[in-house]
Amino acid sequence: TAAEQKEELTAQELADKGFKGHGMLAPFTAGWHTTDLHPLVIERSEGSYVYDTNGRKYLDSLAGLWCTALGGNEPRLVEAANKQLSTLPFYHSFWNRTTKPSLDLAKELLEMFTARKMGKAFFTNSGSEANDTQVKLVWYYNNALGRPNKKKFIARSKSYHGSTLIAASLSGLPALHQKFDLPVSFVLHTDCPHYWRFHLPGETEEEFATRLADNLEKLILKEGPETIAAFIAEPVMGAGGVIPPPATYFEKVQAVVKKYDILFIADEVICAFGRLGTMFGCDKYGIKPDLVSIAKALSSGYLPIGAVLVSPEISEVIHAQSSKLGAFSHGFTYSGHPVSCAVALEALKIYKERNIVEQVQKLSPRFQDGLKAFSDSPIIGEIRGTGLIIGTEFTDNKSPNDLFPPEWGVGAYFGAECEKRGMLVRVAGDNIMMCPPFIITPEEIDQLISIYGEALRATEERVKELKYK
Ligand code: PMP
Repeated sequence: TAAEQKEELTAQELADKGFKGHGMLAPFTAGWHTTDLHPLVIERSEGSYVYDTNGRKYLDSLAGLWCTALGGNEPRLVEAANKQLSTLPFYHSFWNRTTKPSLDLAKELLEMFTARKMGKAFFTNSGSEANDTQVKLVWYYNNALGRPNKKKFIARSKSYHGSTLIAASLSGLPALHQKFDLPVSFVLHTDCPHYWRFHLPGETEEEFATRLADNLEKLILKEGPETIAAFIAEPVMGAGGVIPPPATYFEKVQAVVKKYDILFIADEVICAFGRLGTMFGCDKYGIKPDLVSIAKALSSGYLPIGAVLVSPEISEVIHAQSSKLGAFSHGFTYSGHPVSCAVALEALKIYKERNIVEQVQKLSPRFQDGLKAFSDSPIIGEIRGTGLIIGTEFTDNKSPNDLFPPEWGVGAYFGAECEKRGMLVRVAGDNIMMCPPFIITPEEIDQLISIYGEALRATEERVKELKYK
């Protein structure tokens, strides 16, 4: 109808309106009441690229939001979704009812996770829900064991665990707490394991890791070990700026938490399924977790799904307790959604068939070395990463302490220069993050590096201008 036609915006109108002209309250977006903030509207994707409503093509260096591991148009995932949609678009998994794809996916995940034996998988729709579920599992577990005071969580500064109330509390990023009355009181934060930024003069990586483990132990003793339930960590910190752990770090913090009977939760939401060149981040760093959170690449981002993997010891206690009480009363309408599970099953099948871990290992040196070659740029403090994930931090004088004035917007300038040249990167202040799809080709990596290099040179010029203005 004419009315409907009128409703549909042209690409130009979409771009011209700015967020003020739209009805959407956008996540993690500043100034949704301004007209000068113009959303980039993405319309379609293909391989490592996405296209906006004007038909402009961008190399998607963040794989959507760290998730589209198989790129933009994997037909097998579409087919798996279609097939499931046309057989059983929905049924739930409450009250002793469920669907085959969710049972199959749980089995598959428990087989795939080999860093230690896991007992059960619990499905959620997102990483945040997975981490909220972790807290409830741990509390339920400690209540069942008759230790109702063992309820506090220790997370780390600069971590990202999601944005629901509890997941945001676990996160160690001030922006997630400010103006939200967070973190909640049972969450404590310990040091961020970023060697370059936080090591003391003359301190080696191992000594730094020892100091952080000691600090963790001090925090536990100060609070009382009988009050601390769990420690949560990303194997490589993602949204906090891509921070791989210093040598021996996980070995040392695991020894500390074990000593005080504190559970270890691995937040694998970004790291799982090959991102670091191992199937899970836990494999890379010798982590033997009690609980694991996954999401994102689980479905290659095609549909929302997350999961918690639970150790046999914890699942047995929960099983015994829920048998007494009647149920483990927690879950979401879409826990184990059959279409999401069918897509995830197909994604996992593809990861195995295509040897995704080996593929990432092969691509990694080209990606890492190619970008780290820019380390000597006068505006780069550090470039750090592993596998197919990398972060760049802009600082002055190669020093972690000489930050550029925020009003210079150095990171944002670099991001805009990349966008101009047809590449999307994640900008967070003066941190730049990239984590391309696993299907990126060597030629596309070269293109990524070349755009990065051009944008870097332009940003160096900009900084020079600002300095000598
Ligand atoms: N944990 C980690 C490590 C993440 O990177 C994210 C998302 N970036 C989350 C949890 C939250 O996941 P979601 O956005 O799906 O809730």
